[in-house]
Amino acid sequence: MEIRKLFRENIRNLAPYSTARDEYEGQLGIYLDANENPYENGYNRYPDPHQKVLKQRISEIKGVEPNRIFIGNGSDEAIDLVYRVFCEPRIHNVIAIAPSYGMYEVAAHTNDVEVRKVRLNENYELSAQDILETADENTRAVFLCSPNNPSGNLLDGEEVKKILDHFNGITVIDEAYIDFAGTPGMLLLLKEYPRLLVIQTLSKAWGMAGLRLGLAFADPEIITMMSRVKYPYNINGITQKIVLDNLQNTEQVWKEVAEIRRQREILLKELANLPLIKKVFPSDANFILVRVEDPRGLYTILINEGVIVRDRSRIEGCEGCLRLTVGTPQENRRLMEILRAQ
Ligand SMILES: *Cc1c(COP(=O)(O)O)cnc(C)c1O
Repeated sequence: MEIRKLFRENIRNLAPYSTARDEYEGQLGIYLDANENPYENGYNRYPDPHQKVLKQRISEIKGVEPNRIFIGNGSDEAIDLVYRVFCEPRIHNVIAIAPSYGMYEVAAHTNDVEVRKVRLNENYELSAQDILETADENTRAVFLCSPNNPSGNLLDGEEVKKILDHFNGITVIDEAYIDFAGTPGMLLLLKEYPRLLVIQTLSKAWGMAGLRLGLAFADPEIITMMSRVKYPYNINGITQKIVLDNLQNTEQVWKEVAEIRRQREILLKELANLPLIKKVFPSDANFILVRVEDPRGLYTILINEGVIVRDRSRIEGCEGCLRLTVGTPQENRRLMEILRAQ
């Protein structure tokens, strides 16, 4: 289906808010257009609503043209915008894999959109057929997550492609953890599949969770519409500046990612040798899902030792499971020391 036909009617007809910075884009001059306080303090001016400089840098790093990039206040903004741009409340529905990231469902509910969950199999593998059979003429989006949170595994690329080939709506692939996976992910498929939307974030591998910066990559027509619907100044000036500074030198990040991946492999081996742990799931991310006899009990023991992990045991498909984030070598040694003492 044409992208244009997928937009909600009110969104298709939207006249976006035009900011003072849209109407005049020059750099030098006396700014008497935006009712700002004129005394400079580093943040008295409104930031660039289109984050042009930042998009240029992200474009260089990711190898994606700037007009295919959306920058959000965390990826959660991009997830929410998928609903606001494509889904008519109480009419359209979306499909999300399960178990997966909770935000797809929360955003569905806040937007009053039905979400149909399709269970992954016992190894958390994706079945394109199950997804396609669940879709109907009102399904506007499918949410996939690869590597998937909380299971940690990459989804099979061939299954994802089957969905891209046969599903008529927007296929969202959340790649929050792709930098830990050692594969380029789905960005390479953007041109081939105009209804593909890839979500990434600076919150995980890039070490900037506190700055709140999420990314979406898609066809320029989709990006334009998301940009019209977003709050005009969604990324504050300080965040734009610090992120840009951090992205000048990416060496340090790649070193940290390499170390986290090494630590993950060590932990995977060591955890598998503990009698306490019934199953260690493979991971392409910076966390490991483990199944234990008494998840709540172990969670409490760890808390009492000052180590906080995520109890996922009450989530359907994650019975008995805790999710452990890979920390520094020292933090991981401490975790293993506590586990071995049980
Ligand atoms: C952590 C995470 C995100 C990141 O969200 P931000 O709002 O960008 O911090 C997105 N998707 C998944 C699956 C995550 O686990």
